[in-house]
Amino acid sequence: MEENITLGKCNCGDIEFELTGQAKGVFLCHCSICRRLTGSNGIAVVLIGKKDFRWTRGEDRISRWTKPGHDWKSCFCSVCGSTLPVDNDESNMAIPPGLLSDGGQTFRVIHHLWVDSKANWDDIGDAGQQHSKGYKQ
Ligand SMILES: [Zn+2]
Ligand SMILES: [Zn+2]
Repeated sequence: MEENITLGKCNCGDIEFELTGQAKGVFLCHCSICRRLTGSNGIAVVLIGKKDFRWTRGEDRISRWTKPGHDWKSCFCSVCGSTLPVDNDESNMAIPPGLLSDGGQTFRVIHHLWVDSKANWDDIGDAGQQHSKGYKQ
């Protein structure tokens, strides 16, 4: 089988990674923690199996933070602050698709999470399924 490799990196380029395999679609979380992470309406991620994900550069520059009292965690570049892929669960990485240098042209938002917590100015206008709270596929 032909293997498609998609590359991703942070803004300064010190940290790079690659994916193989195809994500199903984009999850957009509107919760207050993800909104503070980005300073925007939340964060978009695609889920990729851990076996299909690999850091290729700068793994020692990754900073990690777990919100006290939560299982919510984030990874970011210690140089430029770009949000990075993070462990989503036992088997998947959550990858912000905005980091990808190529690929992902066919991505669509398929799920909106924590819509009850979204910002007042955040108008959801796509066809993604809206969940008032979290959602596990
Ligand atoms: Zn960086
Ligand atoms: Zn969230």
